[in-house]
Amino acid sequence: MDKNIIRSLYEKYSSKKYDVSELINKYDKKYIPEDVLSARETRVCRQEKLIARYKASLISIRVNYPGVRKNNYITLYIIKVLYSIIVEKFKNKILYHDFDITAEGPIGTLVINELKENVKRITVDLEENLFLGRCVDIDVYGKMGESISRRELGLKDRKCYVCQRSAQSCVRERRHGIEEVEEFIRKRYEDYIKYSIKDE
Ligand SMILES: [Zn+2]
Repeated sequence: MDKNIIRSLYEKYSSKKYDVSELINKYDKKYIPEDVLSARETRVCRQEKLIARYKASLISIRVNYPGVRKNNYITLYIIKVLYSIIVEKFKNKILYHDFDITAEGPIGTLVINELKENVKRITVDLEENLFLGRCVDIDVYGKMGESISRRELGLKDRKCYVCQRSAQSCVRERRHGIEEVEEFIRKRYEDYIKYSIKDE
């Protein structure tokens, strides 16, 4: 089942830089914490190149999944749901889109022909109001490569999805263990399927 989701994400959203079998290998691979850090560096570098090429806003969608096993049927499913909603929101403003799998998990990247402030407002709304929105991090960058925060738009900081305190303080204090966070995401995924909630 996982492989089918990967194939469908590849067909719909990948920039086809590589073969689908490469994505499946990256999905099956066992990662260590250093891999996550270096995948992050590679991603930031790729994002900068894309922004320089298109001179437009960029969105990066990742599942906020703890630990090193970030590639699993839950993260794939969540990305699949969120990706299609984002495509629907920005439709004809999408200049580029890609789907990749790395040590950071499944990742959606989109370049959008729209001001970063407007993009950010929409993505914050998705993070806050979709049932699965709380499980994802949607980063937004402007055409100079600068990231944009909720605070710059006068919006409240993100709350921790486990306990509702400030997300930053929970990360700083390491308030929740990997199992607790994994459990939260798995439960949300299962409720989503069980009650056939329609995120749109
Ligand atoms: Zn918390």
